[in-house]
Order: sequence, then C-alpha cells, then structure tokens
Amino acid sequence: MKNIIFIAPHGTGKGTQCEFLEKEYNFLHLSTGDLIRQQIAKQDDLGKKLNDIVSKGQLVSDDIVLEMLKKYLEDNKEEKGIIFDGYPRTLNQAYALDELMQNLNEKIDHVFYLEISKEEALKRTLGRMICPNCGKSYNEYYPNLQPKVESICDKCQSPLEKRHDDTEEAFNSLFDVFIKQTMPILNYYEKQNILKKIDASLTKEEIFKIIKGEIEA
Ligand code: AMP
Repeated sequence: MKNIIFIAPHGTGKGTQCEFLEKEYNFLHLSTGDLIRQQIAKQDDLGKKLNDIVSKGQLVSDDIVLEMLKKYLEDNKEEKGIIFDGYPRTLNQAYALDELMQNLNEKIDHVFYLEISKEEALKRTLGRMICPNCGKSYNEYYPNLQPKVESICDKCQSPLEKRHDDTEEAFNSLFDVFIKQTMPILNYYEKQNILKKIDASLTKEEIFKIIKGEIEA
C-alpha cells in the first residue's frame, strides 16, 4: 500500500495527476480543497467562515483542516493507498500527518512536487474552466485545452464554470502563502529522501509517466 503527497502551487494541474493516479491504482483521493468546498456548499456557519478565508486566498487553520481530514479517513476506512492532494500545506500539518500515519501504522512513501513559474501558474489559474456536471477541466488560454464550443463541455454539453476562488488577487495571495508556508515542507521531505520534483511545464502524460516510474520503481 502506497501513500502519496502532492505539493504544488495553485494552477499546476495537481488535481489532474491525482485523478490519473486514482484511476490507475485505485487509491483513495483525499483533497482537502474538495472537503472545504463541500463544507462551503452547505452554507452553514462553518461554510461561510471557510468561504471568506478561501476567497481571500488564505489558508484555513491547521486545526479545522486536520479535523476534516480525520473525519474523512474515519468515514473511508479502506485498505488502499491514499493520495493527499493539497495536504500538508504547512510544516505543522506535515508533523500532524506524520502522527496520524503512525497511529494508522502507515507511512508516506512518495512526495511529488510540481514546479512552475508564477507567470505560468497565474495563466493556468485564470483560464481554468470546469464542467460542474462531469468534472472535466478546460483552459481558455491554451488551444489544446479549449472546449470545441465556447464555454460548453465537450463531453456532456453542460455550461462550464470558473472556480470562484480563481481570481488574480486570490492567486497572488496563495502564491505568497505557498512560498512562505508550504515551501519549507519540501526541505522536510527532501531530508527523508522521499521528495521528487517534477517540471509542471511537461505535458500531463509526461508528468504521469514520471510519477508511475517512481511508484513502480
Ligand atoms: P485546493 O483545491 O487544494 O487549491 O484548495 C482550495 C483552498 O482550500 C485553498 O486555497 C485553501 O484556502 C484551502 N485549503 C485546501 N487545503 C488546505 C490545507 N491543507 N490547509 C489550509 N487550507 C487549505
């Protein structure tokens, strides 16, 4: 059983790689961003508080995210590897995850870091469009990622949507947070010899090939 972490700034295509992995190896895909968006959709007090934080491009507090993550793992007790998508994002979260894995008699096997320039990440973020019905993603700035009909999903013909937190202001804040709070984690995993840096400007197929090579080595 393999447990994997994905670390990447906003807009690198980390979600796509996690989906590939989930399909190829039947891993459990744990996205803290998805858990937070599900809570926001409930529009209760916590959801409103989270919406305020996410739309400003800030990080949700370590305690809240850890609680959501623990609950998700409790509800999904499956004997399979886990993909941690978007967690940890701070050193404290990395320590909390180590403790959690120890309690489960598990460990982290691979940490993949997708490297990207700020300019490229911004372009990818602002152009991103997602089908709310089937989840397929597009990008209006890249000809090979545009839908055949403007703003309509090729697969299911639903109108495409932008994620409401994909604004330039939120992006700038997120990138800043990434440099200051998330980058130190790389050092932590590098020392453990489990970090693999991958150039995010490669195609999604090329990136996945590298990831598969690491997992199956
Ligand atoms: P993502 O879909 O991973 O880009 O996450 C969307 C947003 O949820 C982020 O911009 C953060 O505001 C929040 N978020 C997701 N994961 C975490 C985390 N591990 N710690 C704190 N905030 C998080």
